[in-house]
Amino acid sequence: MKKNDILTGTVIDYTHEGNGVVKIDGYPVFIPHTVKDERITFKLIKQNKGFGIGKLVSIEEESADRTTPPCIYYHQCGGCNIQHLTYEAQLTMKRNQVKNLVHKMTKLDIPVRPIIGMDHPWRYRNKSQLPVQYNNGIVTGFYKPRSHDIVPIEECLIQKESHDHIMNAIRNLLQKYEVSIYDERRHKGNLRHIVLRSGTKVDETMIVFVTKSQKLPNAEQMAEELMTQFPHITSVRQNINPDKTNVILGRKSLTILGNDYIHDQLDDLTFEISDMSFYQVNHEQTEKLYRQALKYAELTGTENVIDAYCGIGTIGLFMASHADRVYGVEIVEKAIMDAKRNAGNNQLSNTHFEAGKAEEIIIRWQQAGIKPHVVMVDPPRKGCDPVFIETLLELEPARIVYVSCNPSTLMRDIQLLQAKYDIEALTPVDMFPQTTHVEVVCKMTLKG
Ligand code: SAH
Repeated sequence: MKKNDILTGTVIDYTHEGNGVVKIDGYPVFIPHTVKDERITFKLIKQNKGFGIGKLVSIEEESADRTTPPCIYYHQCGGCNIQHLTYEAQLTMKRNQVKNLVHKMTKLDIPVRPIIGMDHPWRYRNKSQLPVQYNNGIVTGFYKPRSHDIVPIEECLIQKESHDHIMNAIRNLLQKYEVSIYDERRHKGNLRHIVLRSGTKVDETMIVFVTKSQKLPNAEQMAEELMTQFPHITSVRQNINPDKTNVILGRKSLTILGNDYIHDQLDDLTFEISDMSFYQVNHEQTEKLYRQALKYAELTGTENVIDAYCGIGTIGLFMASHADRVYGVEIVEKAIMDAKRNAGNNQLSNTHFEAGKAEEIIIRWQQAGIKPHVVMVDPPRKGCDPVFIETLLELEPARIVYVSCNPSTLMRDIQLLQAKYDIEALTPVDMFPQTTHVEVVCKMTLKG
């Protein structure tokens, strides 16, 4: 077998990136856009030591799990790469991935509950972050796979429809006012990204112009025109990011026109969300995720709850009316300011929010004698700091509910926590349909 060979085989599994796996004499080849159980012909385009990369040539026997991707950019865009699977098949794939990880990384017999899917798995993203480039005219869109070249996009089927219209209007304004566009390679020019964020139950949208320098000529004029055309735009902001970096937002931001934040509602709670704060992108699934977390927390009204990595306080505030007291910690100061306002606006006075690293603040709380009965954990992709886990093991809360956007780091943390905790169950939640990302909520109970 050598590069450029044309080969035939049957897809036996998926990689965590959603590529099909075919084995040729025991050698695995990963092939994008293929479906389990399909018999396919492919070209071997790369031959690494332990695995190869293939390109689909033709399908000999098609699976019933295959469907036609509705997005016209599907084959160029690096965004949602499993649109060729029916939604049922996507859900099965994700649940199996969690099961395989549990088996491979923990050797524990943890029940993986049915995955919670979406009713209509499209148009769910309430946040769009679009890079802007100059390439024979101003283009906005998404990056091609493993590249920073933009695929110009006018319609993205996983983002809110209003974001398509706003983006197209913004592009026209950028041309009209000849806005200077950032050139990543030369680190010159000004406008880098457009970020859009909307409420779902509350019809409010924020636009953020991310620029290299603070000077943005005609900013107010553009904001006014956008707000006139789209009355649901209630906030236009500018974020300044002068650094040579892939990180989208810089540290400084200001309001050009309108409010400093937008609102949304999750179940019966309202939230103020500012541009620098994390907010879950899929509203329908967030409500389901939080309800599941609340169920796993088994609160009776008497408990002290810690909400670690709390963002704008969403999960903690969901728990507050079922608990005695809630303590939230989060590293982004502005998010903690949001959380405090959100507690006040929802009349939840039994809450206390602090900005800082979870691994540091939890030690302070321990020293202050705070004894949590339930700890909610919802860390970023890298999982929890080992010091945080050590402190949890000392604090011995009766239950830990761990929400994870990266099951591999959850499995790593489970291996540490299982010293004192029974890992009772895992429920996967599909927060990001059409992509391979999978969210998991896990219930752990202190061993008797
Ligand atoms: N529970 C929230 C946020 C989850 S996202 C929600 O559901 O909306 C993870 C959050 O962890 C982010 O807000 C991020 O800013 C925060 N974070 C990252 N590292 C942290 C650390 N070391 N300590 C505390 N918070 C951290």
